[in-house]
Amino acid sequence: MADLVPFDDRDGWIWFNGEFVPWREAKLHVLTHGLHYASCVFEGERCYEGRIFKSSEHSQRLIDSGRMLGFEVPYTVAELDAAKAATVAKMGFKNCYVRPIAWRGSEQMGVSAQQTRINVAIACWEWGAYYRDLRLTRAVYDRPAPNTAPVHAKAAGLYMICTISKHAAEAKGFGDALMLDWRGYVAETTGANIFLVIDGKLHTPKPDCFLNGITRQTVIELAKARGIEVVERHIKPEELARAQEIFVTGTAAEITPVHAIDDLTYQTGPVTRLLLDDFHRLTRSHVA
Ligand code: PMP
Repeated sequence: MADLVPFDDRDGWIWFNGEFVPWREAKLHVLTHGLHYASCVFEGERCYEGRIFKSSEHSQRLIDSGRMLGFEVPYTVAELDAAKAATVAKMGFKNCYVRPIAWRGSEQMGVSAQQTRINVAIACWEWGAYYRDLRLTRAVYDRPAPNTAPVHAKAAGLYMICTISKHAAEAKGFGDALMLDWRGYVAETTGANIFLVIDGKLHTPKPDCFLNGITRQTVIELAKARGIEVVERHIKPEELARAQEIFVTGTAAEITPVHAIDDLTYQTGPVTRLLLDDFHRLTRSHVA
């Protein structure tokens, strides 16, 4: 399996502070601020048939995430878009996942890091379906309140509770964890937003303490274009039992039907199928 090839031992090129370096040489020193203090933001994007879906939105989010952590990514949206496209082309992929990342360097090693250089790298690799037969279980951690962390940044530090929660779910035989927010409302999985179909309407949690995913926003637009009513609101976990269909959305996850949440079970239904088709068509609209 390709996933078992370690990520630091592959062929290819990584864009690193404006230049392409051979994949295996794209290294950091162990004393890197981003590693010790999580002063690091990143993106996850997918390229479909040679076009990165919503590339500029992702570039803008990388810049915004950096600002939420108090640093300026030293490239514009246009420069990031061009660098990502060049990386995909250099790797010769038509369909792949793209991972831009920005982090504070090694110039200072302490909580204060005002003088550190902001580094940027872009890698891409082939990555198929993120989830298979997805079953969720309640997470061990909740999403933090907006006054306790920069909750709208796609920041490395916020994934600490995601990896712990996902590992705990996997240990119980589930594919991922369903995280509640600090008030006890349904929030998201460890890497995707969630939607419920209740009596023909789409219900999804208000993104007031987690990432308002680019795929989430796309799916809301697709649903509205189909005349499906979309309700963004606080959702109590008890309401999961009322849903006829549940699916999650994310760049890696795309649209994935959820087949169980602990003891509750769900089938892939007509609304999910319609949106899956529309999403598939939209991501490839440039070659249609
Ligand atoms: N929430 C979390 C925690 C994520 O990691 C992701 C994936 N980036 C999402 C939601 C979905 O975001 P997007 O659709 O922009 O990929």
